[in-house]
Amino acid sequence: MSMKILIVDDDQVDRIHIKRMMRRIDSGNVITEAEDVDSALSLIIEQNFDVVLLDYTMPKKNGLELLKEIQEQNIEKHSAIIMMSTSEQEELALSCLQAGAHDFIIKSDITGYRLRRAILAAQARFDMETKLKESYKKVKQLAEQDNLTKLANRYFFDESLKLTIANNERQKHKTALLLFDLDHFKYVNDTHGHDVGDILLQKVVHRIHTCLRGNEVFSRLGGDEFAIILNHLDRVGDAEKVSLRILNVLIKPFFINDAQINMAASIGISIYPDNANDASDLFKKADIAMYKAKKLGRNQIAFFEDEMQQQFLNRYKIENDLSQALDKQQFELFYQPVFNCEDSAIIGFEALLRWHSDQGLISPDIFIPIAEESRLIKPIGRWVISQACRQISIWQEHCPDLTMAINLSPIQLLDSLLLPHIKKCFKQYSIQPETIEFEITETALLDDSWQTQAVINSLSELGCKIALDDFGTGFSSLSHLHHFPIDTVKIDKSLMPPEGVDFSNEKIIHGLVIMLQYLKLNIVAEGVEFQSHLTLCQMLNIQKLQGYLLSKPLPPGEINKIALFSRYPNMMPCVVRQ
Ligand code: C2E
Ligand code: CA
Ligand code: CA
Repeated sequence: MSMKILIVDDDQVDRIHIKRMMRRIDSGNVITEAEDVDSALSLIIEQNFDVVLLDYTMPKKNGLELLKEIQEQNIEKHSAIIMMSTSEQEELALSCLQAGAHDFIIKSDITGYRLRRAILAAQARFDMETKLKESYKKVKQLAEQDNLTKLANRYFFDESLKLTIANNERQKHKTALLLFDLDHFKYVNDTHGHDVGDILLQKVVHRIHTCLRGNEVFSRLGGDEFAIILNHLDRVGDAEKVSLRILNVLIKPFFINDAQINMAASIGISIYPDNANDASDLFKKADIAMYKAKKLGRNQIAFFEDEMQQQFLNRYKIENDLSQALDKQQFELFYQPVFNCEDSAIIGFEALLRWHSDQGLISPDIFIPIAEESRLIKPIGRWVISQACRQISIWQEHCPDLTMAINLSPIQLLDSLLLPHIKKCFKQYSIQPETIEFEITETALLDDSWQTQAVINSLSELGCKIALDDFGTGFSSLSHLHHFPIDTVKIDKSLMPPEGVDFSNEKIIHGLVIMLQYLKLNIVAEGVEFQSHLTLCQMLNIQKLQGYLLSKPLPPGEINKIALFSRYPNMMPCVVRQ
């Protein structure tokens, strides 16, 4: 079979000799000649040779140097290389083979037969080497590539980030690390299935590729979490530009099978060397920034800032302490009485959680969101239900009609243990379900997953009452009042006019109340702080009132006391017990 052959030798006589041999082996062989290493190298870069016959001894650079240059420049060799030398030194032969030659031949031995054997052996070695390289490449890919998206994986990303930073330490370049995940991706998996989730990830990656130049390290770290390393940054603003482009391309809906899926991402950015000196610190800071971006309301970008770290650490400490609070018995329930507007009698209570942490009393407005994010609200919430049921059963011994309102956060509605727990408590404390009202906020209803729906319906079917909390603050969609079994609406305290008279607020409350009364819903006014509020509620005929004017949330012992001395006849009988 004819071959393309390159002869590299400074000696013209030797070249002619070898050429003759090669023609004798096969007259169709195409032979090119080079006199030195440099011209040989450019020929090898430009063309593909089946065989390179390379002289070891040449004046400027020897054959070994050509082998080294081929390796250093990472030239994909397609040729079997045979080194020729006048020397018989074994060491020289060995170092040539180590440098990448496939065979070694002594010039004085060159005959047609020897050359043909050398070529065959070199080609066999070359083929073996190629196969080995390919399988190495495959293994490497498996180890470094994410199978689904074909992006670099976590391992490759970690190594690249370290390498980039080590290089930039010398070159004084800036690097940006963009870390992001897809907002509510879990929801897509849960509602459309994992196959759709997988296709979505591939489509997302495809769109993001259009925002990049191609020289960035773009990796999937796992699940729906991605990272991009932007190297040699001219301006920090460039990281923002790329991030904005990414948010932009994700905004358009995705169509998979017959489903339309809307996606967004939260991107956290940290900059080397401004924010961190090493890879792991840079990563942590991008993570903190991403957390912040999510907090900003998703589909957002956040750069790392120093104070974020402190906030993050504080939050982390609270979460950590919170995880031990149940065991340490640091929780207590306060009860805020709910009053009947007509005769000022206490008709029920709302259970409000208090946390006596090692750092002192922490407000629920601070720890409840953290408990929700960390899902600790599930066990804590179950504890609240047990306690509130136990307490109301004691008070109900004297006033069976007293009701207990218990707050349920959206996360609790996804707790598979919630319903069994409630049923267990009702049984244990002989509770009539209709005396328990669960308060949920509209955000819980916005996540219109079947699970949330099912739990609210089950609670209602059990006989419990459902109250819509904080009405008037969020979306206050009337359709929620229609689609969910809502018994009571609690008008948020922020709608109460400030002391003195504010006609605009009054009009809003007035309108709301008329609408709710028309829908035959029970109404509770929250935040009754001043006499003017009380008068307003009486005027609007709101039946149930709650607020500092009437009573703050109190520990059970205090409730017993106010009932003992007070003007609230309904509570009178239950004063003896705690
Ligand atoms: P919320 O459910 O809207 O509870 C009413 C909040 O308003 C309580 O704050 C209460 O102390 C306060 N409040 C009552 N009357 C007045 C008033 O006249 N004026 C003003 N300015 N405020 C008044 P608190 O106890 O700090 O609870 C804050 C929030 O924490 C609650 O808001 C609720 O969303 C959440 N939370 C409290 N306990 C629990 C619980 O056991 N489980 C869950 N999931 N959330 C809870
Ligand atoms: Ca409430
Ligand atoms: Ca409320």
